[in-house]
Amino acid sequence: MPFPRVGYGYRLTAPARQLERYEFSSLEPQTDEVVVEVAGCGVCHTDVGFAYDGVPTRAPLPLTLGHEISGRVVAAGERAQAWGGRDVIVPAVIPCGDCAACRAGQPSICRRQFMPGNDGDGGFATHVRVAGRGLCPVPQDLPAGITLDLLSVVADAVTTPYEAIRRSGLGTNDVAVFVGVGGVGGFGVQIAAAFGAAVVAIDVDQSRLELASQHGASLAVNAGSQSEKDLKAAVRAFAKESGRKGIGLKIFETSGTTAGQTTAFGLLDPGGYLAVVGFTPKKVELRLSNLMALDATARGNWGCPPERYPDALALVLDGKVVLHPYVERHSLDEAPAVLEAVARHEIRKRAILVPDDMAQQ
Ligand SMILES: [Zn+2]
Ligand SMILES: [Zn+2]
Repeated sequence: MPFPRVGYGYRLTAPARQLERYEFSSLEPQTDEVVVEVAGCGVCHTDVGFAYDGVPTRAPLPLTLGHEISGRVVAAGERAQAWGGRDVIVPAVIPCGDCAACRAGQPSICRRQFMPGNDGDGGFATHVRVAGRGLCPVPQDLPAGITLDLLSVVADAVTTPYEAIRRSGLGTNDVAVFVGVGGVGGFGVQIAAAFGAAVVAIDVDQSRLELASQHGASLAVNAGSQSEKDLKAAVRAFAKESGRKGIGLKIFETSGTTAGQTTAFGLLDPGGYLAVVGFTPKKVELRLSNLMALDATARGNWGCPPERYPDALALVLDGKVVLHPYVERHSLDEAPAVLEAVARHEIRKRAILVPDDMAQQ
């Protein structure tokens, strides 16, 4: 297993500046770390937030962005030897496993967590060095049509809605509503359908709605072409017709836009549940007392605990969550242009950056 002594990546040197290519050498793992040869790294709107929207990274710049990483372990420290040579998905949030929050079973809020591309260099690179714990093993023999690079999006775009859905207690009695069915929401729709719920997809993009209808959604509603009142009425009518007896809609805000957050909050009904999955640094004006009046719940989740990754991955490997229609590959060398295009909403699918030597395999 040759470990190249020179790799390269694309790093953010200052806010709003184009990513800069740089080379690095001798990426040596510490005793409890591994070096992963990146197969693919998904581009997330959180990366756009760091680069263009004034969201500060926790580690100082310059910093290599990218927290949606899959690849092969090509070097392992003394205490991480078990990972040597294995294909893995690197969790977007790697908790320390040892602090009060971790011990209390809330690893997502671990203060000593490591998020690649935020707490240290991330996956917009040929190689990345991460902790040798919490990694999600990927089988060597993958089902037809699934490749290791595609599985990078499991690290965040699949597992984050997965954890939101799990926390909501969604089941076969429920109606799930997804506001925003791009990458994250499109996977959410499929996961909710796999959990047995009746699923509603809401978006302003007709092509996304059609895709959601093909993959898990029983009702697709274009929020751009009707009033909020009509939207509510359509969702309520569907919930009634679905015959699901669960109390309260389970609503998942997966657009990460102020319009989507406003729509999602407005859909809350008595006993309803709102999961905030998408991220925007912008503010919205809401009548928060609706939560009290409706005895409703609103909840967020910062990523997904690593121990749940295998269950989320299983949904993909079993064909219950399909990745292909929602992702597109780009060469790692296009990283600066791809990030800009994602920021301008010119790339409709989840972009995956693939180092060239991997793309040619
Ligand atoms: Zn992300
Ligand atoms: Zn911890």
